Amino acid sequence: MTGSRSALPGTHVTGHAPCWGDPDFAVADSRWKTGKDLVAICEPVLYVCGGCPFRAACIKQVVPAKNEFDGVCGGRIWLNGVIVHALPDADPSELPPPVIRKSCGTAAGSRAHRRAVEQQCPRCEPFYQPGPNPLDAEDDAQQLELPNVA
Ligand SMILES: [Zn+2]
Repeated sequence: MTGSRSALPGTHVTGHAPCWGDPDFAVADSRWKTGKDLVAICEPVLYVCGGCPFRAACIKQVVPAKNEFDGVCGGRIWLNGVIVHALPDADPSELPPPVIRKSCGTAAGSRAHRRAVEQQCPRCEPFYQPGPNPLDAEDDAQQLELPNVA
């Protein structure tokens, strides 16, 4: 069964990708509640992105960070436009090129690149630190609900 992915405009390049039309890649909101649900749907199909020559083109077309995309795009699983899981060979060079900002060359500049899910510019590279994974935040929330065993 193949579904149509009509929600994404201008996807002619990735129309040739092996994932094209698979509803497990652009996942309908009705199919999941938490990020873990989403990963459970997407993780089994993420391997399809392995070695896919369209990964950079896919990210360029879907613009997942800006569109708060949920699903698989370019070898990564996105939750509200944030990468929560990636193939081991997912390479930063597949992300959009960095926008140069006044804050470049500082930790804030590096964070700005990270928030935009773009490459780090050379001046920000030394300041790069991975951001928090929203899935970890879900874990923390669940832990807070556990009874306090003193
Ligand atoms: Zn920079």
